[in-house]
Amino acid sequence: MVPSAIEPRVSHCSPYIVIAAIASGLSGTGHVPALGMRRDLFSYTGNTNSYATVGTSKGQAVRHFCPVCGSLMFGLPESWPHMVSLYVGTLDDPSVFAPSIIVFASQRHEWDRLAAALPEFATLPPRR
Ligand SMILES: [Zn+2]
Repeated sequence: MVPSAIEPRVSHCSPYIVIAAIASGLSGTGHVPALGMRRDLFSYTGNTNSYATVGTSKGQAVRHFCPVCGSLMFGLPESWPHMVSLYVGTLDDPSVFAPSIIVFASQRHEWDRLAAALPEFATLPPRR
């Protein structure tokens, strides 16, 4: 299941595009490629399973998974109520993803380095 409204909106409605260096808690991998999108522009069809965790801001973050294959699809951070985090692996065309910053760099594994030099933030960037 892929949210149908994402693809045409990624490039011009998304206020930022990030690679989230969120270590083992989410995926067990070095980082999770994700992009942020205005929540009011986001919609999806179908069902999800969800799981709530406490984020770094101490607010709740609800992550939604495909109920069939378990793929991580999107997250709704309570601390950024206007944003939805879309996990790039769920896009119909992940090649549209162009990371511009690295967040949660403080949690990065030493072996997990990107080829591109991107601005890094220990946690999240300052809010605009
Ligand atoms: Zn699935």
